[in-house]
Amino acid sequence: MRIRYCWRCEMDVPMLEGEESTIASRLYAEGFKIPEKDRQKRFKKLLDYYNDLTGFGETEPNAIVHHIADIYGPDCENCGKPYRTHKAKFCAACGNKREMKKLFLDDVRTIDMIYDKSMESEFDIVRTFDEFVAYINKNGLPNYISFDNDLGLGEDGKIAPDGLAAAKWLVYESGLDLKDLEFYVHSANPVAAEQIKGLLTNYIKHLKATE
Ligand SMILES: [Zn+2]
Ligand SMILES: [Zn+2]
Repeated sequence: MRIRYCWRCEMDVPMLEGEESTIASRLYAEGFKIPEKDRQKRFKKLLDYYNDLTGFGETEPNAIVHHIADIYGPDCENCGKPYRTHKAKFCAACGNKREMKKLFLDDVRTIDMIYDKSMESEFDIVRTFDEFVAYINKNGLPNYISFDNDLGLGEDGKIAPDGLAAAKWLVYESGLDLKDLEFYVHSANPVAAEQIKGLLTNYIKHLKATE
């Protein structure tokens, strides 16, 4: 649980995180199956769960299901209120233009192995092709991506989809406008590095030419 500003309630409230929100969603769904008119009784388990956890004294079950930290974007760098959505470009409270994090795709390296240590806070890290796709689907396209190519073995013990697969996903499947994307290939695999660079550079050049 953590305290975040709620746009609907217009105040700071305790918001559920991770496993807590999974439990709350389950208790909410269970409440609908209970043949009972009184909402307080019907959703008693959910209200008790939330109030025991937060000490908040919530009486409205519907409020709890929007007090889930992950529904909203990260905190605004300027005013600290959450961006309304994960893909929001501006803060609805103060108008601040959102600073997108740079994205670092690598199965093992840390930021300071490629960039200056002082840049660590500018990056989010994803370790696999699946994390890469999920991150961009959720947050939108970053302004800058740093690519590794070889991403080790998958859970099935086979070679995992690599950085080139991630670049291909961006170009052929994501449907995103890559025109303003900046990238760097930090992979130590020279052949794959050329392939990723070639694919993205040519595609971006093509987008700019057909503007
Ligand atoms: Zn609220
Ligand atoms: Zn703001």
